[in-house]
Amino acid sequence: MQTDNSIDFASLNLIAPIMRAVQDEGYTVPSPVQAAAIPIVLDGSDLIATAKTGTGKTAAFAIPMLQLLDESGTPGDALRGLILTPTRELALQIHENLRAYGRHLKLTHAVVVGGVSAGPQIQALRRRPDILVATPGRLLDLMGQGKVRLRDVEIAVLDEADRMLDMGFIRDVRRIVDALPRQRQTLLFSATMSKEIEKLAGEMLHKPARVEVTPPATVADNITQKVMFVDQGDKRDLLVKLLKDDDSIGCALVFTRTRHRANRVARQLSQSGISADAIHSDKSQGARQKALELFARGKVRVLVATDIVARGIDVDGITHVINFEIPNEAESYVHRIGRTARAGAAGIALSFCNAEEIAFLADIEKLTGVRLEEVDEHPFRHQGIASQRDTGGSAPPKKKARGGSGGGGNSNGNSNGNGSRSGGNGSAQRGQRSPSSAENNGSSRRGGPRRQPRGEDTQSRPTSQREGRSNETAAPKKPHFGRRPRTA
Ligand code: AMP
Repeated sequence: MQTDNSIDFASLNLIAPIMRAVQDEGYTVPSPVQAAAIPIVLDGSDLIATAKTGTGKTAAFAIPMLQLLDESGTPGDALRGLILTPTRELALQIHENLRAYGRHLKLTHAVVVGGVSAGPQIQALRRRPDILVATPGRLLDLMGQGKVRLRDVEIAVLDEADRMLDMGFIRDVRRIVDALPRQRQTLLFSATMSKEIEKLAGEMLHKPARVEVTPPATVADNITQKVMFVDQGDKRDLLVKLLKDDDSIGCALVFTRTRHRANRVARQLSQSGISADAIHSDKSQGARQKALELFARGKVRVLVATDIVARGIDVDGITHVINFEIPNEAESYVHRIGRTARAGAAGIALSFCNAEEIAFLADIEKLTGVRLEEVDEHPFRHQGIASQRDTGGSAPPKKKARGGSGGGGNSNGNSNGNGSRSGGNGSAQRGQRSPSSAENNGSSRRGGPRRQPRGEDTQSRPTSQREGRSNETAAPKKPHFGRRPRTA
C-alpha cells in the first residue's frame, strides 16, 4: 500500500475510542483513500470516491461515519447511518469492520441481506440499531413491510456503486435513496467512474468533494529485473564500466535519489566519455524539455533523473533503467522501471544495491512478488552485501570480496523465486498491515476545522480553500448537513 507517511491517524482528528480501535487493528498509517476521505467526511461534505476493495475504503467511510454519529446523537435513538452494498459478503464484511472500528463506542449496527431468513434481521431492527448495512433488495422488502424507516438517516453510503449498476440494482437504490431525508450526507464509492455513475452521483449527492485512488502499477512481463550488490563508493565505476562494456545498453535512464547526485553522476559519465545529461526539478522546464528531446532522439545516451521528474519521461526505446540508488518507496521502483519496455519492447532494469539498500530491495521484492536476479559477475561485486540479502542483516558489512570479471551482463540465473522476505531496516511502511497498493490523487487536508455539532449554524470551509486536495468540485458555501433544506 502506498502511504503518505507524513499523515498519521492522529492528524485526522479522530476521537480517542476510534484511535484506540485503529491501534487495536494494528494500522499504523492511513491508506491514501483514508487520508483523503476521512477529513472530508468529518467536515460534513458529500463525497464521491474512486477506490477498489483492498485500498482500505471501508475504513475510509466507516470510521468518519462512526465518529459523526457518535458525536451527533444518542446511541439507540434512531437509525442514523445507512450503508448500501451490492452483495451479502460485502455487507457482512462491512459489518465486521464497523464492529472493529466501533468497538469502543456505544453505537450499534445491524445487517439486512437477502438469501437468508428475514426473522433475525427484523429482530435486530427492533433493537434500534444506529447503523444499518444492507443489500438493496432485502432492504426494500423490509421497508415495504414497515420494519425499517429511513427518515432519520443522517449519513448514507453507497458502496461499490459500479457493481450496483452492473447487478441491475439501480432502480432499487433510487427507491431507497428517495426514502432518505433530503438533508443528509451522502458518500458514493465506486471502483470505476462512468457516465452512469456520474449521473447517479449528480442525482444523489450535493456538491460532492472527490477523491481518486488508482490501483498500484504492476511490473510488465517484458522487463527483466536484475540486481548488483556493490559498495556505494564503487557505484560510479560500476556504472561507467557497464556503459562502456555493454553495447546493448542503447538508451539508459539512470535514477538517483537526489538532484545533486543526478548532476554529479551525469558529469562523471560525461568526463568518462559517455554522453549524459541530468534532469530534475531544479532545472527549468525548457532545460528539461531539451534534455528529454536529445535523449529521445538518441543524441544523449544516458539521462540521469530523480523520481520527481520520472513521471514526465515517456520516451520509447529506453533499453535500460538503472537504479543507481534504490528508492525507499517500493512503488517508486515499479514506476521507475516502467519507463523501459514501452510499446511492447523488452527492457532491462538494473539496481545497484549497497548495504543500506538491502531493506529497500526486500520491500520491492515483497511488493512485486519477484526476486531480482543477481548479476554476480562484475568486478565490483560485494560478497558481504550479497550475503546479507538472505540473512536479512542490516549492519553494513566490513569486508568486500571482489570476484569475477567482465561487463556485468551475465547472471547466475537465480531468477524469479518469490523473494518476499523482510530485511533489516525497512522503509517507513514496513510492518503495517497493508491493503493493496494505491496511489492517491487527492491528498488530504490535515488538522482542519471539525464538523460542527448538528443544528449549529456553521459555515463549512469551501472545498476550493482546502489545502492540497485535487480533483474536487467546489464545496458547498453553506453547510448542508443537518436539517437545512437542500437546494439540489
Ligand atoms: P478494504 O479495502 O476496506 O476492503 O480493506 C482491505 C484490508 O485492508 C482490510 O483487511 C483492512 O483491515 C485493511 N486495512 C484497512 N485500512 C488499513 C490501514 N490503514 N493499514 C493497514 N491495513 C488496513
